[in-house]
Amino acid sequence: MSAVLTPARLDEALRLLAENPAALAMAGATDLLVRRRGAIPGHEPVLLSLAHVAELQGITEEAAFLAIGAATPFSRIIADPLVHRYAPLLVQAAQTIGGPAIRNMATLGGNICTASPAGDSLPPLYLLDARIELASPAGERALPIAAFILGPGRTALEQGELVTRILLPKAPRFPRERFIKTGRRKALAISVTSFAGRARLDQDGRIAEIRMAWGSVGPTVVRLPALETELVGAPVHAATVERVGLAVHQGVAPISDLRASAGYRRLVAANLATQFVEALGG
Ligand SMILES: Cc1cc2nc3c(=O)[nH]c(=O)nc-3n(C[C@H](O)[C@H](O)[C@H](O)COP(=O)(O)OP(=O)(O)OC[C@H]3O[C@@H](n4cnc5c(N)ncnc54)[C@H](O)[C@@H]3O)c2cc1C
Repeated sequence: MSAVLTPARLDEALRLLAENPAALAMAGATDLLVRRRGAIPGHEPVLLSLAHVAELQGITEEAAFLAIGAATPFSRIIADPLVHRYAPLLVQAAQTIGGPAIRNMATLGGNICTASPAGDSLPPLYLLDARIELASPAGERALPIAAFILGPGRTALEQGELVTRILLPKAPRFPRERFIKTGRRKALAISVTSFAGRARLDQDGRIAEIRMAWGSVGPTVVRLPALETELVGAPVHAATVERVGLAVHQGVAPISDLRASAGYRRLVAANLATQFVEALGG
């Protein structure tokens, strides 16, 4: 059995981590304990529970951003009016994660630190320009999410550091925001492909700004910035929709695995984007 350390404050958590460098941070444990299932008896790692660390809990509004504590479970994020106001796209994604029991345990920080290409909070966080706040005994730093996630299961987290908060800038809302996830069944499914989109139209019904991100079609979240730029000023008609489909089909680089083939994922990624753009028209 693993020893579990249960700090109540962040400074205590960081001190315990410094004293036990091999300890594993544990938030909701929905990823960690699944991955540690094969630990050799007598050699289980020490676990550092973050569940009671006050600074890592809850959602607060600051002047320029919304701050979500890393150990805040998705059920709390879904229920929070501030997240509905400033980050409805994150609410849409959080509602698709696991089932109610998983959402009561699984945390936003855990989803980010797992850095799975299928992590459902990630495409919205990229589009919301999320910054990841980190703390260690040496001090604090914050990184844009795209700089924090380095590859499947790899992050910029350094020895002795913990993710403390996820910072979401309080930018004006986009009138059209959509998260769509496709899986092998409707609930409790890992994403085969996911899509997040935000867009606004100008007075003439042309695209004024569009942001898109895909999950499970590359080692990390995929964005196509050249396509986003190219679409500014484009009317929402069939030729634009076709252009989007083609660009996405060529731009994503999925792999084949147990859940789906690369070709299927490529097709779904293109379809999710064309559906989103088509719906902007009305
Ligand atoms: C049945 C089931 C269904 C699931 N469905 C989905 C789904 O639909 N979509 C989806 O995206 N995921 C899903 N997951 C995966 C998992 O629930 C999520 O990734 C979840 O957000 C992980 O959060 P956690 O708090 O449980 O993390 P934990 O398991 O506690 O930790 C995960 C990793 O992050 C590290 N970590 C956690 N918090 C911190 C921190 N503050 N600082 C530093 N390191 C930290 C841990 O050390 C560990 O390496 C599912 C899992 C299960 C078991």
